[in-house]
Amino acid sequence: LSILKSLPKAELHAHLNGCIPLAVLQQLASEYSGEGGHTSDAIRQSLDKLKDGVELKEISDFFSLFPTIYELTSTPNAIATATRAVLESFLDGDSPQCSYLELRSTPRTTACMSRREYVEAIVAEVEKYPAEKAALIVSVDRRMSVADAEECVTIAIDLKNAGRRVVGVDLCGDPLAGDMQLLKSNFDRAREAGLGITLHIAETEKNTSEDTLQLLSFKPDRLGHATFLDDAAKKIVLEQGICIEICLTSNILCKTVKSLQDHHVMYHFRLDHPVAICTDDTLPFRNSMLGEYALLMAEPPHGLGLKESEIKRIAEMGMQNRFPPRPRSDK
Ligand code: IMP
Repeated sequence: LSILKSLPKAELHAHLNGCIPLAVLQQLASEYSGEGGHTSDAIRQSLDKLKDGVELKEISDFFSLFPTIYELTSTPNAIATATRAVLESFLDGDSPQCSYLELRSTPRTTACMSRREYVEAIVAEVEKYPAEKAALIVSVDRRMSVADAEECVTIAIDLKNAGRRVVGVDLCGDPLAGDMQLLKSNFDRAREAGLGITLHIAETEKNTSEDTLQLLSFKPDRLGHATFLDDAAKKIVLEQGICIEICLTSNILCKTVKSLQDHHVMYHFRLDHPVAICTDDTLPFRNSMLGEYALLMAEPPHGLGLKESEIKRIAEMGMQNRFPPRPRSDK
């Protein structure tokens, strides 16, 4: 493990509200005064479920975990506390999980803050770390209206133009929701402003090839999951060398991949196609960057049995694909 610990590693796919340490949520729950209409009992029960570990029948079950967490991070103070804890959990301590964290989060309007205030509260915490350690990606949720998506992208562009540490935009949320054609112009705006583009894509078997090709027309710099690419999509991804953010534990627990041995990471890695090893949501999946790298190293069936030199190469790929995106010709 000391080899894995000493490797410079970039975490490029971590959702803020999916990575808050349970103890911090419990603390926020103890301060919760019911302003959002949830009872303290309901909050406690949801947190108890997370403590016991989540059992997901399918990926759609996963999204039901978030309403309680959102209730607890609905003020600028609470979201700042949560962000601080997530940054610390990845970057601090004697044996940090990674050397660089690109944290992502979806701007939310609540009774206590606007979307812009939400992002400002997070970015202020991110900026307490040096630029070579931490940055923020603003997520757009597939379930959002076009107007809300537009607002998120505008916030990301405005903050970037003001010199704040926003480096990209992401598309996330229920993989089957929304009409992606309607969102294209906003991702075009983000790219033109110099923000990196990363998209959750082909995450489930039910994602249509039309949806996937539509998303590839956004000219993404990176892709999240990309589990079910068909031949036409694979050709574009390989030809354009688009980095794939790989979340091994997440895919297994959400049952979009049967086993580690069936995981698409090896297909891409054997072609020397760029991949980045990431955690996705450390709270429900109870994983860590070190744990994900250990899965690369462990012998089958518990891991993928990669050699030290191969793991080094994978870690290097992650570091090379940090935002801001490099021009395609350099990749
Ligand atoms: P947030 O963006 O900081 O609020 O983080 C939680 C949100 O990230 C969830 O509500 C989802 O929309 C999104 N998310 C987390 N994990 C996944 C995933 O595996 N696929 C798609 N969206 C995800």
